[in-house]
Amino acid sequence: MKVLKFGGTSIGTADRMKNVASLINNGEEKIVILSAMSGTTNMLYKISEELENKESQNANKFVDQLEENYRKVVQELFTSPEFNNRGLELIKYHFNYIRSFMIDIFTIKEKRTILAQGELISSVLFYNYLLENNMESKLIPALNFMRIDNNLEPDNYYIKENLNRELKQYPDCKTFITQGYICRNMFGEIENLKRGGSDYSASIIGRAINAEEIQIWTDVSGFYSGDPRYVNNAKPLPRLSFDEAAELAYFGAKILHPSSVLPAKLANIQVRLKNTLKPGDPGTLITSKSFGKGIKATAAKDGITAIKIKSGRMLLAYGFIRKVFEVFERYKTSIDMTTTSEIAVSITIDDKTYLKGIVNDLQLYGNVEVNENMTIVCVVGDNILEQKGYINKVFDALENFSIRMISYGGSRHNISILINSEDKKEALIALNNLI
Ligand code: ADP
Ligand code: ASP
Ligand code: MG
Repeated sequence: MKVLKFGGTSIGTADRMKNVASLINNGEEKIVILSAMSGTTNMLYKISEELENKESQNANKFVDQLEENYRKVVQELFTSPEFNNRGLELIKYHFNYIRSFMIDIFTIKEKRTILAQGELISSVLFYNYLLENNMESKLIPALNFMRIDNNLEPDNYYIKENLNRELKQYPDCKTFITQGYICRNMFGEIENLKRGGSDYSASIIGRAINAEEIQIWTDVSGFYSGDPRYVNNAKPLPRLSFDEAAELAYFGAKILHPSSVLPAKLANIQVRLKNTLKPGDPGTLITSKSFGKGIKATAAKDGITAIKIKSGRMLLAYGFIRKVFEVFERYKTSIDMTTTSEIAVSITIDDKTYLKGIVNDLQLYGNVEVNENMTIVCVVGDNILEQKGYINKVFDALENFSIRMISYGGSRHNISILINSEDKKEALIALNNLI
């Protein structure tokens, strides 16, 4: 059985949904994972932010707008009055449900429930389109089997058991439809796998059923050697290893959710990236093997905060780094890069939620300096550290930019460099010239 995930743009209009329906109509056994239609999750964020700020009039305006868009989608998607009505009823139900959250006490729980509506709507619309067109399939609700644990990690045992129970209900069915992104937490409340999380759903589900292949269908023809939005001459890469893809995704390549490679790697399931608009293009195949030498691709991660802790007492002091790291652990904030010298340690984080508390606690150990709005650019390739001269080329390419930190040697596949965000585009172009 294969797992096929279609992202927001792949199902962004009624016509695109129809196109996906014809792509999957081939008799192969598969689980199809759908994101929300493009723009929906952003809009649901806006609605919930307005509700958090008690701006229910603004929220209402956005809800009306979004509902109107969906009413049009329904009219374009279905032909028969019966399915058209069904679609309109579905839209009415979900948008009235969202309106029911215009209440005085609006918490993170209500927000997450609102954010889940995008995937719940797109999957049921798509399922009904298949029904109307006599394409055999079953809808299995992700909220019945996707669960994260106390550490916000997938509860793999629970997922496997419950997903298999769902699948076994329909032994003759070849095509299952489910939602990406959404899940429950250990209290049974609606949660999600963070922005772009449908890719992660796909690999968690792929691992749970030991899929033959995990396919990520999107709006570009595979993993490019650089972010195609910034680097004009970037090219799709035919092959990448799990480690290379994971580094690129973690360091900002939006095409894959940062956590989505690991479950596939652990289960050794190949991941194929494909373009829904150009299904004949070869795309990118990600496996345990690496092909080709040298720098293969670049990526960039914005919104990075660098924190430097400087202390005279650090010199030869046992346990200093441990104490510093414990502060980040206490605030459940993961560290991206670190560099140390005799008297200082620099650390980067991308989640600023607890920055104030972190800085407060670190001040116990020394002088703390914070730089926000930084970007990590990274170059990734197989064993690049072992290839003589590569670091010189990287430095030469970046000669016109001021470099705040470098991480070299932490991974054999990656060299990461912290720069000011305003230099990102030019730095990516310069680094891509090395490929
Ligand atoms: P989906 O809605 O299908 O999940 P995303 O927008 O999340 O799609 O991811 C696809 C987008 O990722 C592309 O349109 C492209 O702009 C962006 N992207 C960033 N870096 C890369 C890269 N290295 N290769 C391909 N796409 C990239
Ligand atoms: N709909 C969610 C988002 O926009 C998940 C996804 O698209 O992968 O972040
Ligand atoms: Mg995505």
